[in-house]
Amino acid sequence: MATFDIPGDDDALRSALEDVNLPTLLMVLTQFAGDDRWLSDRYKPDPIMVPEGELFPDDTGNYSDEVAVEIRDAALGLIRTLRDEGAELPQAPSKERMQQMMEFSTAESVDADFCSMLLEETRFVDRDESWKKLLRQVSEEKRRDFQVIVVGAGMSGICTGIKLKEAGISFTILEKNDAVGGTWYENTYPDCGVDTPNHFYSYSFERNPNWSGYFSKRDELHSYFEHCVDKYGLRENISLSSEVRKMRLLSATGRWEVTVADSNGDESTLSANAVVSAVGQLNRPVVPEFPGLDEFEGEAFHSARWRHDVSLAGKRVGVIGTGCSAVQLVPKTADVASHLTVFQRTPHWIAPNKDYYRPVEPGLLWALNHLPLYAEWHRARMIFSFMDRNWGAVPADPDWEQPETAMNQANNDLREGLVSYISEQLGDKQALMDVCVPDFPVFGKRLIVDNNWYQAMARDDVSLTDSSIVRFTSTGIETADGTSHEFDAVIFATGFNTNRFLWPMEVVGTSGTSLDARWGNYPQAYKGILVPDYPNMFCLYGPNTNIVHGGSIIYNTECQVNYVMQCLSLMLSRDSSTLEIPQAAADEYNEEVQSISETLAWGHPGVQSWYKNSEGKVVNNSPFSNLEYWARTHDVEPNRYLMQ
Ligand code: NAP
Repeated sequence: MATFDIPGDDDALRSALEDVNLPTLLMVLTQFAGDDRWLSDRYKPDPIMVPEGELFPDDTGNYSDEVAVEIRDAALGLIRTLRDEGAELPQAPSKERMQQMMEFSTAESVDADFCSMLLEETRFVDRDESWKKLLRQVSEEKRRDFQVIVVGAGMSGICTGIKLKEAGISFTILEKNDAVGGTWYENTYPDCGVDTPNHFYSYSFERNPNWSGYFSKRDELHSYFEHCVDKYGLRENISLSSEVRKMRLLSATGRWEVTVADSNGDESTLSANAVVSAVGQLNRPVVPEFPGLDEFEGEAFHSARWRHDVSLAGKRVGVIGTGCSAVQLVPKTADVASHLTVFQRTPHWIAPNKDYYRPVEPGLLWALNHLPLYAEWHRARMIFSFMDRNWGAVPADPDWEQPETAMNQANNDLREGLVSYISEQLGDKQALMDVCVPDFPVFGKRLIVDNNWYQAMARDDVSLTDSSIVRFTSTGIETADGTSHEFDAVIFATGFNTNRFLWPMEVVGTSGTSLDARWGNYPQAYKGILVPDYPNMFCLYGPNTNIVHGGSIIYNTECQVNYVMQCLSLMLSRDSSTLEIPQAAADEYNEEVQSISETLAWGHPGVQSWYKNSEGKVVNNSPFSNLEYWARTHDVEPNRYLMQ
């Protein structure tokens, strides 16, 4: 019999239950009941739908007051029992039961594989069993003798460290910054935050029941990763201010030699059986080489290197770029600047989300913390609503008659909804419509969440120009339409060096070739992780793994880390010093990646983006739905690898 820590008297419980989601509560009742009493027509919710103008789905079930009271009363009864008497925690659902319960709870059919994935994402099933079973044959001593170097202590590196620690494998994480957290450490611009719902943007094994908002801001995200480092005891394994400059495979032993520089630039050399690159795709800021930039006498800095020592209050500010970073930082910056001018090269699609700043309700916080199984079903239903629901709007329909502006009917429906939204938001500034509506299909680039961007564009103290930048002068920027814009400060929200994965590290493989030279303009990796000629080297968030249509990049990373852990466990269980993907297998995979990418929204010829190389090939994005990528990284294929 388990006992449960359930704070609050009956009135507090009743009040908390007013905030919780009823179809989710019904799943908790069903799992505790162990039968179908709550799965009858009387309790069937309405299907999940997204009201026009919103991003958060209405998944309340739309119950009558009478049924809602009945469900809440039953939940109160269950909670009282758990609090006062304790109970056995019910078994995890089988795949079939998961499917039955999800289909009931969403009032839609749910794919069986999707349910297998959900069982892992909810931790009803331990996904780590895939590598743990291989490691059972390996002595603790052997695991300790096996050394892994992880490059980067951001979201991917921390995830890897946690799993390596659990596996008993020795490892060091080398981090170039003086703190952990990667993106969430480096980016501190105003209103910096996540645009994936937080209850899904968190590790499956470390759900945070205390997110203050549905889309939290940078400080809270950074604290979450700091918390993970402490909770899983990673501090002793992390070396901060340690920038990896070179990694070289030693063919004689199959080990990697890693050259690392400390904050003074002094170099030392480490060695490891395997290396994991967890350097991310978006952390080497790019400032375009505008003519005259050196002459500018005002302040100038990149969005990812925000200068908190520079006050923008009452200043004339220019912002170059209209990607996610610009959209997030502009409205709050406009609030303090005397005038702000945005320089747009291409408009992006920006979607409404009235829940963007919504705090998590106290009752939901209570349920996520104290009601057993609630957090699991909450996550499952959130993944159902946010992960691949938009995938249908991504691939080209060969019979679609306006392929220049949309991929298919669903994609066109989204376009029309967004165009009306833009028009509504611009109010009496309809003249800006031509400047604000993209000509490429929705999902050609990641849909940006609106944080009052169009309202900011409609302000009298904000100007939006799409005239191209000709040059900087000592006092500002000249544009092609002949205008001289005067500024006290210019912010470059111009993105990152994205196509040179792992750069500026020099990575040298078996044949002595550097990875940068091998890849050139066209980085490619098997499953985004492994590269021929670079055995025992694993990339996280490598080529063709970025997601655009929906989902959480943490989910993708967990898929990759699971695969990497299986590869390492395979090496250990077979006493192998190397594990390498053959060229033919990598080529076959990449041909598939490219042939699919051409048919997807982000491969559309009208899209110019950081996802593509200079030849127009998509090198950053995954061509798969999130479910498909989970399936493809779920089980290592031992016979596919060259192992010695
Ligand atoms: P970005 O998407 O690459 O946007 C860079 C912007 O600068 C684009 O508007 C680009 O124009 C413009 N630009 C680049 N070079 C220029 C030039 N020479 N002249 C004029 N304009 C130029 O960079 P980002 O906004 O930093 O976002 C990068 C990625 O980070 C995003 O795609 C997203 O994945 C991630 N991100 C996520 C969040 C979040 O909320 N989760 C927040 C920020 C960033 P074009 O559009 O014409 O190329």
